[in-house]
Amino acid sequence: MAEENKRKIGLSTQIFIALIGGAVLGVLIHYFMPEGYLRDTVIINGILYVIGQGFIRLMQMLVVPLVFCSLVCGSMAIGDTKTLGKVGIKTVIFYIFTTAVAVCVALMVASVIDPGVGVNLANVETGNVSAGEATSLVDTLLNIIPKNPIGAMADGDMLPIIVFALFVGIMLAKLGSRASNVANFFSQFNDIMMEMTMSVMKAAPIGVFCLISKTFAGIGFDAFLPMLKYMGSVTLALFIQCFIVYQILLFVITRLNPMNFLKKFFPVMTFAFTTATSNSTIPLSIDTLDKKMGVSRKISSFTIPLGATVNMDGTSIMQGVAVIFIAQVYGIDLSFGNLVTVVVTATLASIGTAGVPSVGLVTLAMVLSSVGLPTEGIALIMGIDRILDMMRTAVNITGDAVCTTIVSHREKALDRAVFNKE
Ligand code: ASP
Repeated sequence: MAEENKRKIGLSTQIFIALIGGAVLGVLIHYFMPEGYLRDTVIINGILYVIGQGFIRLMQMLVVPLVFCSLVCGSMAIGDTKTLGKVGIKTVIFYIFTTAVAVCVALMVASVIDPGVGVNLANVETGNVSAGEATSLVDTLLNIIPKNPIGAMADGDMLPIIVFALFVGIMLAKLGSRASNVANFFSQFNDIMMEMTMSVMKAAPIGVFCLISKTFAGIGFDAFLPMLKYMGSVTLALFIQCFIVYQILLFVITRLNPMNFLKKFFPVMTFAFTTATSNSTIPLSIDTLDKKMGVSRKISSFTIPLGATVNMDGTSIMQGVAVIFIAQVYGIDLSFGNLVTVVVTATLASIGTAGVPSVGLVTLAMVLSSVGLPTEGIALIMGIDRILDMMRTAVNITGDAVCTTIVSHREKALDRAVFNKE
């Protein structure tokens, strides 16, 4: 009987239980365990760190081979460059549009809540910021073409990998039976990677449990208190984007049931939440969209890695709120023109933010300087950014998935029966 019950608990539920359980354990460790070797070295930076990071690394291990193979197969299946171009243009327009909407939502929410009014700088934990070297726009564009495709793969550089894989796929389609061995190789290797993703995901509840406990054991709640209004504003704007804007778009354009989408996509969101890394959710996202929602891999193999690299709506929301917060803390007034500049630069910053933890804070420097705000302001929000990073990453990848579902629908590459299946 107990055995039967155990089998009935689905992966999503297991992950959810792990999430709550891990958070509770983390908070207990933070407040009730005395600092020292056992707590800090053995439990937090030993067991929890090793298992949590081990799980992230397992997922990361899949990213490059999976993106490459599934993109080769995807572009080979689409075949003609005209359709590929159409999918590409639709996707990019959609990504830019949703990001701009996200920044507007953030600016509106922050203007209503006024997160920076009444914040006492003395109570805020600050950190050191290094803004990092920004690459110029021309170089960013040029870097999309890989000088050395193997080098790009070794570095996990997503955009050049996408370009090379698309090229290989198109050539395979052009050569047809003359290259059938290579085509078969890629499609079989792709199956192997998908299978591997599913196996790794079996460890997700344990990985999620350790990752979340380590985070909470490290930060507790103390640092949050003076920042509650800022955190509340970011959370509310993320919530509106994820559960209202996306779901309205999904429903209006595709007539699919948003609840169904959210339920099925939940494990991917949890994974993004605990790891704060869009990049490592790529395999799981493609797999979930394919198996549970009937979204063709022809589309998702292209749009998901692209989105994980350039479409960061959650990040741009944090940046929008941060701009208002920092301006208010420093007592600087922003004009309407300034706000328009923020919408443009935060949208660009989202394209330039890599899908790994905390990068959104670095690209925030660019947004702040575009309207003359001090970049040292970033130090104010650093202490509590981890938890917001987790939330915004979940929104980042949900945006990619919604766009992918919509584009698949428009391209008639969506199996509604699979989507609607319980
Ligand atoms: N962690 C985010 C992501 O991977 C990027 C960021 O906002 O720092 O999507």
